[in-house]
Amino acid sequence: MADENKPQHCEKELAQFIRSGAARRPDQAFGDYYRGRNASCALGAAYEGMYRLPTQAAGLRPTKDLEWFFDCLEGSVRRCPGGDNCKKTLSLAAIMVHLNDDHKWSREQIAQWLESLK
Ligand SMILES: [Zn+2]
Repeated sequence: MADENKPQHCEKELAQFIRSGAARRPDQAFGDYYRGRNASCALGAAYEGMYRLPTQAAGLRPTKDLEWFFDCLEGSVRRCPGGDNCKKTLSLAAIMVHLNDDHKWSREQIAQWLESLK
């Protein structure tokens, strides 16, 4: 697909996807995109907001499609907002995983941070 046909989606829409994905799996996963039937991490939730995944999604690696859909995931670099003197500066996708796994931010906190980005 030509680049000009590629939809431009970014942080605010990503936040909405995380919320709709999180609503489908009430528990949060750390260190995995999905865990069991009821848990997803922030990126896993965003992916699920995009596609309807089978309930048993453990082991899926959703980032390839997400990175295509959301230029911002790899195309923008963000400073970690997690506090505690954390100075990590990573791609947006990596920061989301880092906030989820290392700072244990909830998916809702990550969605709110995404919405605050300019
Ligand atoms: Zn951090």
